[in-house]
Amino acid sequence: MSFVDTFAKLDRDHLLMSLYSTTSDDVERALQRPSGSVEALMALLSPAAQPYLELMAQQASLLTKQRFGHNINLFIPLYLSNLCANECDYCGFTMSNKIKRKILNKQEIQQEIDIIKGYGFDNVLLVTGEHETKVGIDYFADVLPHMKQHFSHVSLEVQPLETHEYKKLVDLGLDAVMLYQETYQPRTYAKHHTRGKKKDFTYRLQSPDRLGQAGVDKIGLGVLLGLDEWRLDALLMGHHLAYLENRYWRSKFSVSLPRLRPCTGGIEVKYPITDKGLVQLVCAFRLFSEQLEISLSTRENSQFRSNIMPLGITHMSAASSTQPGGYANPATQLDQFEISDERSVVEVTSAIRAQGYIPVFKDWEADWSGRL
Ligand code: SF4
Repeated sequence: MSFVDTFAKLDRDHLLMSLYSTTSDDVERALQRPSGSVEALMALLSPAAQPYLELMAQQASLLTKQRFGHNINLFIPLYLSNLCANECDYCGFTMSNKIKRKILNKQEIQQEIDIIKGYGFDNVLLVTGEHETKVGIDYFADVLPHMKQHFSHVSLEVQPLETHEYKKLVDLGLDAVMLYQETYQPRTYAKHHTRGKKKDFTYRLQSPDRLGQAGVDKIGLGVLLGLDEWRLDALLMGHHLAYLENRYWRSKFSVSLPRLRPCTGGIEVKYPITDKGLVQLVCAFRLFSEQLEISLSTRENSQFRSNIMPLGITHMSAASSTQPGGYANPATQLDQFEISDERSVVEVTSAIRAQGYIPVFKDWEADWSGRL
């Protein structure tokens, strides 16, 4: 039993129709009891909820402060490799792109660590392309203990692994895994993922179950906004989240809401989501799940990041490079996608403080998890 069985029972055409036939009465009912209800989430994601955005934002902001205080957790991605055995037409690392490929060696990794520790980060997200033969479980198991010597919180954003492999990494100190479905709409998924193991929609959809079974402390879901109808993708991710929160209640959950960005050889955004749309999405998810962590990356520009921050965001990246070795050698061009917020860490933390929030670099100790 996995989410795949639950997903098979969801009538996506019916959900899409329901999203667009939601009324203001439905939205008002949803605002009374939004927590944990996928029906309420649907109403809050619908076009009918747009006139209620101000009210949703006030409620979302209050709930976020009650649950998370005035804290914004900061993290930084560390790209270890851009090798990839998949063809995804929206990504700069896609297999057919003629870019220089690289896997960081120990010395290069240490250079990156020294720089990002110098910025003050203690929460790192290790990122690779998806190349299981050259950058697979053995590489991760080798790198992870080294990372844990330098960072109190280490997350991974790599190809889906097997349950026993996740367990092995948890034993080595892994704290979190981000694994994005990209889109929950199989036809669109097939259109954008044309070669490699990532073509297998079902295997990817099962992956968060394997994370839960392996006891990963935090599981991150995400959709790439712009690949298809964002309201439906967000609603289907809400169903996935509800299923996982119910079944793997020992784990924490986060969502990322990246908008499709330009990259080398990238595609045109067919289903753009406006700033207002993204605000609606963040508020809807906050009202749906009070304990959910919501992450916003440097894909978004500085002004928008500052404006949306108080409405539900709990985690932000800063000063990010999206290329392997990019902190030590920023001039090389191996990026996964372009970033929009190019401010330094000092500028980002000052902006957070200016809004009355506290930038948090560390909120986690390994012994709190019972494993050292
Ligand atoms: S999105 Fe991931 S799997 Fe697809 S090409 Fe980029 S790095 Fe590879």
